Amino acid sequence: MAALTGKVAVITGGNSGIGLATAKRFVQEGAYVFITGRRKPELDKAVAEIGKSVTAFQGDVSNLDDLDRLYKLVAETKGKIDIIFANAGIVEPLKTTDVTPEHFDKTFDINARGAYFTVQKAIPFLNDGASIILNGSGAWQKGIPIYSTYSATKAALRSFVRTWAAEFGSRGIRANVISPGPIETPILDSQFPTKEAADALRENFKTQIPLGRIGNPEEVASAAVFLASKESSYISGIDLPVDGGLVSV
Ligand code: NDP
Repeated sequence: MAALTGKVAVITGGNSGIGLATAKRFVQEGAYVFITGRRKPELDKAVAEIGKSVTAFQGDVSNLDDLDRLYKLVAETKGKIDIIFANAGIVEPLKTTDVTPEHFDKTFDINARGAYFTVQKAIPFLNDGASIILNGSGAWQKGIPIYSTYSATKAALRSFVRTWAAEFGSRGIRANVISPGPIETPILDSQFPTKEAADALRENFKTQIPLGRIGNPEEVASAAVFLASKESSYISGIDLPVDGGLVSV
């Protein structure tokens, strides 16, 4: 039997990159997925690519009304939820001296507050035994000068799952964070003004990664399937790096 047969999953940021790859894998493994994102054309394209067992919801994770509307839709359509993948995120590289209050608030609103309320508002709809997965980043363990705000939001996610593993464990609900290293998705190019600057980042990372290459979104999706499924039934509160060895070696 497939790993997620009959499960209902919500994936924020499911119209691109890691979220989209994970939505495809979850459906292949027998789940029904709700994908979210702000951009309607990308959502439509993602639905066409996924092909079946998918509903798209246009919304912003930093907007609590959007999250309420999302869970109303999920509850009315499917009743309960088995898997939350709070994956939506942004990165805007800036030196600390260039960070503005607006940049700081936007990064925390989407990456940390957005993930927090994506989960908090799902709690009433979660089945016992559900799996909460946050998409963090190995950056939370590193001191990368241009990522002071981004890395701190991801450190917050590491803390959230410790608390939630303890808080919801009595219902069999598990909470874990995945920490990807550099993964080939649109976020890599989009954070730099030129392709050359993005390529320089890629090359720099490759020299530090034991496996010597950038990862692909399907490799993160595999980790999400593992944490979503019974294969990880006794794993909760962890940070799972998916980064070619970058932060562990
Ligand atoms: P993408 O840019 O391909 O995907 C980002 C996704 O997040 C999109 O679906 C985007 O949709 C969605 N999103 C962004 N802001 C919001 C918002 N306010 N509300 C709802 N959805 C939002 O990049 P990735 O797939 O790489 O990124 C996914 C996650 O992986 C992020 O949290 C990122 O921090 C993390 N990550 C990525 C790494 C990498 O190297 N690729 C490394 C480590 C972590 P839309 O724009 O339509 O809203």
